[in-house]
This record gives sequence, structure tokens and C-alpha cells, in this order.
Amino acid sequence: QAKSAGGGYRLYQAAMGTDLAKRLTLAKRLRQALDGGKLQLYYQPQFDLGRGCVIGAEALLRWNDPELGWVSPAEFIPVAEERGMMNELGDWVLREACRQLNAWEAAGMRFEGRLAINVSAIQMEDPGVVDRLLGIVQQARLSPARFDLELTESSMMRDPERAVQVLESLGAAGFGLSIDDFGTGYSSLSYLKRFAADQIKIDISFVQNMLVDVNDHTIVTTIIVMARSLGLKTTAEGVEHEDQAAALRALGCDNAQGYHFGRPVAAQVFGEHWLTPSPT
Ligand code: C2E
Ligand code: CA
Ligand code: CA
Ligand code: CA
Repeated sequence: QAKSAGGGYRLYQAAMGTDLAKRLTLAKRLRQALDGGKLQLYYQPQFDLGRGCVIGAEALLRWNDPELGWVSPAEFIPVAEERGMMNELGDWVLREACRQLNAWEAAGMRFEGRLAINVSAIQMEDPGVVDRLLGIVQQARLSPARFDLELTESSMMRDPERAVQVLESLGAAGFGLSIDDFGTGYSSLSYLKRFAADQIKIDISFVQNMLVDVNDHTIVTTIIVMARSLGLKTTAEGVEHEDQAAALRALGCDNAQGYHFGRPVAAQVFGEHWLTPSPT
């Protein structure tokens, strides 16, 4: 690495001029980060709005590259998807989450509730996806019931008939299932009924504007009512303020996640802050 540092750096600077080259650079460095064990998972608590207690957490990928700095998953996940790395990356996420659950447990910090894992559309397209995810969890001697797989509404609507089947199989295997970014993916009520999900996550965009935009308030209200009539739980994402939490509670939303409750943090911080048993 040292011998190519000078020229390589200039090349990198020039390459950043084009989007394609930027994506290639990202892909190359992501490959190195994955191989070199440089990726991390952060954990964000999820709360029961009624009882006000932690009921789980969402695992979120973090990448701090020595040259690029922090790169957002919103930027590198699409690159992993288009460069054929997503299945490997997705496997790593679930394996790391399993390792962490066992590590917390070994340290006397039991993680109650479910750990939410984001699953990409690419992973869903793999015909072996169910065995693949189940295999990782079983290898770690954990039950699939400890996990909540989050699949976005739009990824499910790419091929909804297949999504119906994949969800059916994942649910039968024991995984909890959530429809992520709900309200942005144009699913029909008939599909929603057929998806074997347990929960809907109301997209952050509606939650963030629900107290300033009457349309967004209506959308949030409608999603909560509809979810309840279909027997699905609701989680609001992106709750940043107490007045949003109060409004969601009043509407009967089950769970919430957002900076108001807790930011995504490294595993050790999460363990100390959210898992250490209280003295009383
Ligand atoms: P997402 O699944 O919708 O995750 C929620 C995003 O909202 C996260 O962004 C989280 O940090 C952020 N967030 C949480 N609370 C608040 C809040 O109160 N206010 C605001 N403004 N944002 C909040 P993050 O971590 O940057 O992740 C972005 C997206 O990248 C995720 O959106 C998800 O689609 C994807 N992603 C992250 N980790 C993974 C992964 O392990 N696998 C896959 N396939 N995708 C992932
Ligand atoms: Ca998610
Ligand atoms: Ca989401
Ligand atoms: Ca999102």
C-alpha cells in the first residue's frame, strides 16, 4: 500500500470527478473493508410506546474508511448491490449480529426482545435466501425468533408474488418480519394481507412531518388503523421529539424508534446503556 500511496492518491482524487469512478472506488474500498473486518454494526433501541421500555434494537451498518471517512450505508449499500457484494455483506451482518448477541449474553447482559436486521432486495432474490439466513442463525445456536427481518416495502413490490412466498417461508422458519419504509412502496391492500409480516415500520418521512403537514398526519393515522385491522404491529421510525411520541401514542402506534429515544451506538455503548441490569 505504501509504495502506491502517492500515485494512487492522485488517481483517486481525479476519479472522484465522475460518479461511475466514485462508485468503483467505493466498491473497491468496501471490498477491502469487508475482507479486513473493518465494518461495524451500530444498534438503535426500539421502544414500546405504551410501556416506555426497550423492546429490541435495529442493527445498522457503519463504515469508517481511513481515506473516505464515514460512508453512509445509504451510499454504500446500493454499491454493494450493483457490484455483486450484497449477499456476502448481508451474511456478514447477520453473522456479526449473532456473534454480538452471544457476546452480550456471555458478558451477563441479556438482550431481551428482537434484534432487527435489514435485508436487501438482492438477498431476497437469492433462491436460497431462507436456508442461507436460517443456517447462519443455527450455526450461532440462536433461535430465529430472536430476530426481526426488515424488508422494505418497495423491495417486496419488485416481485410481490415471490415476496409473498419468501415471507411465508421466513415466517415459518420462525423469523419475525417487518415491512420497512412503509408508505413509500405502493403496495396494495390485497398484498399487504397476503404478506406474512408481523409489523409495519412507518416511513421516517411521514413521522417527521406529521405535526406540521396535515396530509402526513392523515397518512400516519391511516397506516396505524389499517395495520391494526390486519393484525399487524406498527413501529414509527425517526421519532425525534416528545410531541411526536405523544401524538403517535395517542393514535395507538405500538412501537417507536428515533433520536428522541436513542441514537444508533456501538455495541459496547449499547450494552452499557441499554442492557446493564438496573440496581433496583
Ligand atoms: P433504514 O432501515 O430505514 O434505517 C433507519 C435510518 O434512520 C438509519 O439510517 C438510522 O440511523 C436513521 N435514524 C434513526 N432514528 C432517526 C431519527 O430520529 N432521525 C433521523 N433523521 N434519522 C434517524 P442509517 O443508519 O444511515 O441507514 C440508512 C439506510 O441504510 C437504512 O435505512 C437501510 O436502508 C440501510 N442499511 C443500514 N444498515 C443496513 C444493513 O445492515 N443491511 C441493509 N440491507 N441495509 C442497511
Ligand atoms: Ca430498517
Ligand atoms: Ca426504515
Ligand atoms: Ca429508509
